[in-house]
Amino acid sequence: MNYYADVCIVGAGPAGALLAHLLVKKGLSVILLEQNATLGQAFRGEHLNEEGEAVLKKHFLFEAVEALGLLRMEKLEYYAKGEVIKTIVPDPIIGHLGIHVPQAHLLKGILQQTVHFQNFKCFLHTKVTTLLTDTSGRYIGVVATKNDETIEIKSQLIIGADGRYSTIRKRAHIASQKQKHGFDLLWAKIPAPQDWEPAIKMALIDEKQLSLFSQTGGFIQIGWNIEQGNFAQLRKQPFTPFIHKLIEAFPQLDDIVTRHIQSWQDFVLLDVFSSHCDCWGTAGLVLLGDAVHTMTPTGAFGLNSALKDADCLASLLNKEAIRQFNVRDFQQMRAQAIEEVLAQQIEKEQTFAFHFIDRAS
Ligand SMILES: Cc1cc2nc3c(=O)[nH]c(=O)nc-3n(C[C@H](O)[C@H](O)[C@H](O)COP(=O)(O)OP(=O)(O)OC[C@H]3O[C@@H](n4cnc5c(N)ncnc54)[C@H](O)[C@@H]3O)c2cc1C
Repeated sequence: MNYYADVCIVGAGPAGALLAHLLVKKGLSVILLEQNATLGQAFRGEHLNEEGEAVLKKHFLFEAVEALGLLRMEKLEYYAKGEVIKTIVPDPIIGHLGIHVPQAHLLKGILQQTVHFQNFKCFLHTKVTTLLTDTSGRYIGVVATKNDETIEIKSQLIIGADGRYSTIRKRAHIASQKQKHGFDLLWAKIPAPQDWEPAIKMALIDEKQLSLFSQTGGFIQIGWNIEQGNFAQLRKQPFTPFIHKLIEAFPQLDDIVTRHIQSWQDFVLLDVFSSHCDCWGTAGLVLLGDAVHTMTPTGAFGLNSALKDADCLASLLNKEAIRQFNVRDFQQMRAQAIEEVLAQQIEKEQTFAFHFIDRAS
């Protein structure tokens, strides 16, 4: 089958979903392609900061997302030897220290407000494999596998919102500089004890960050930094001494952790890196979100940056002038802010241990 739209967006993550919504509202015809069969299938960042919140509110999407369920963080606590040593409370004007929004709620909330537009199509279970060019080398479409069928979508502009391992970036031969940050991350999810407050709790274990994030629906997400590339080695060690370090840091979780985290298999490994591209697109094609600037999980910036990219890119695209769109305008508007966030992440990673110094001295 062949399709045509003004814009073809590859990837229905936060960047692709929001951009699709905004462009459809501006009257552009949009086809949004997602390789997974359902939205929000891959585990990704779920902490919205006040900037991401502001973008959703600006476009009247926050209420739809909130109706599906979210949780505002009421404090940030630093722990040492099982006790709170420092507490940060929200600026009363902002009212929270981040909002946990399940990925599926965010994406469904946005797309529920989009599906009724005639100029919008979304194909799930559709994986883009190839880019099409015209004789001048301009990108004019994509080839994808939809269920088991090969389809072709031609468009004025192809948008790569396909995340950290972007196929669109690779097929367009756009170079990306990758940087490791000295750590990888283990994730696990456990039920929260009754009356567990909506909070972020942090501890320092063997000079590495251990974080607990309260989640919507009564869960706690555990994020535990480990030495870069060390998981294979770690897995050969006995598990009990490792998990006891978590219990020592947060004794109130002893019972639940013992019941729910019993082996290395209960953790999921995230290969932590950041990356950036010197060029954000080319003729007929533009990248945004993680596809053009992957961030580490530190400080929970990636989701919010992806939403801001979509907001900015949508402001530059008009139905009458898609072919005149110049990717450099978009890059100029966003690249500086992205560089600053990446620098902020590195600073946070390098100074995390300082939060615990008072206690040690
Ligand atoms: C474990 C983890 C925790 C994180 N925690 C936070 C956090 O708390 N707060 C925060 O702000 N950020 C966090 N981040 C970062 C955040 O998740 C990302 O920055 C954000 O999701 C980027 O959005 P995106 O839309 O650019 O890309 P993605 O969310 O990666 O979405 C890309 C989409 O494209 C689809 N896709 C990929 N290839 C193809 C293809 N060939 N064809 C069709 N579809 C395709 C994918 O299936 C996916 O749905 C975290 C990231 C990870 C991995």
